[in-house]
Amino acid sequence: MHGIRAERLTKRYGATVAVDDLSFTAQPGVITGFLGPNGAGKSTTLRMLTGLTRPTSGAITIGGRRLADLDDPARTVGALLDARAVHPHRTAAQHLLAFAQAAGLDRRRVGEVLELVGLGAAGDRRAGEFSLGMQQRLGIATALLGDPGVLVLDEPLNGLDPEGIRWLRTLLRDLAREGRTILFSSHLMSEMELTAHHLVVVGRGRLIAEATLDDFVRAHTTRAVTVRAGSPDRLGGALARAGVDFAAQPDSSLLVTGADAPTVGRIAAAEGLALDELSPVRESLEDVFLRLTHEATDYEGVAA
Ligand code: ADP
Repeated sequence: MHGIRAERLTKRYGATVAVDDLSFTAQPGVITGFLGPNGAGKSTTLRMLTGLTRPTSGAITIGGRRLADLDDPARTVGALLDARAVHPHRTAAQHLLAFAQAAGLDRRRVGEVLELVGLGAAGDRRAGEFSLGMQQRLGIATALLGDPGVLVLDEPLNGLDPEGIRWLRTLLRDLAREGRTILFSSHLMSEMELTAHHLVVVGRGRLIAEATLDDFVRAHTTRAVTVRAGSPDRLGGALARAGVDFAAQPDSSLLVTGADAPTVGRIAAAEGLALDELSPVRESLEDVFLRLTHEATDYEGVAA
């Protein structure tokens, strides 16, 4: 199966730099999450990947080739870029059939992909009557028509209800397990945290980070520990004497930012204090993401 590689990818629209010298990879068998605030350049990148927009410079390739140079693009890469891009008067099955015929794909796939995305009973309904969640499912069905090894989905979670989100997560995991390359964008950090293995984080068109989800959160998490003792004052005094930064919390616990849990435990033990709680604080992906993208924005503000 092919991977995706962006190399110094750049796209300018007049004075706007939508994508700025962006390099990253998405590997086969891995769900890569493409994460960034609105306007970060995600859609533009995915449009360049699928040949809808030309890069100003640099390239984004599938198995080392641009989409236009692929022998069999419809069976190599499937994409969902805009779930609303369906003819409202066509039924779901007609939409898929038209796409299959245009791409030279077997029409029997239409029924299969409708089943695969949970629209088996809705094939004869007009796409214009679909909820956004159903339109997303139809878009994913379209992307899967050619049984592609590379799947590219732009904000596929938009409009899905919690059941739909869980469904998509399972589907993407199954497809990745079969060795396919999955690249999907989202600004929904909590979902990204549950679904993606690998993260490409962008802000203002530039790469902010590329790492596994665990490494990303670990590398950018501020070390913090919540600690609670019967006497917060004595604990605070001991921490202060040890030169450790902390802040008293309203619930009488202390939030320690200058030391890890074993160190805090030892300081308390040396003071003869029994602890009621000693727990590392793990930031969510959302916390880390917002801080990093703020930093990127602040930096841009200064640089501009
Ligand atoms: P994202 O998908 O991360 O929300 P986009 O790729 O849609 O970001 O947009 C990145 C930037 O490029 C934005 O500033 C957007 O306004 C600009 N942009 C995108 N497409 C065009 C276009 N066709 N013409 C001019 N500017 C565009």
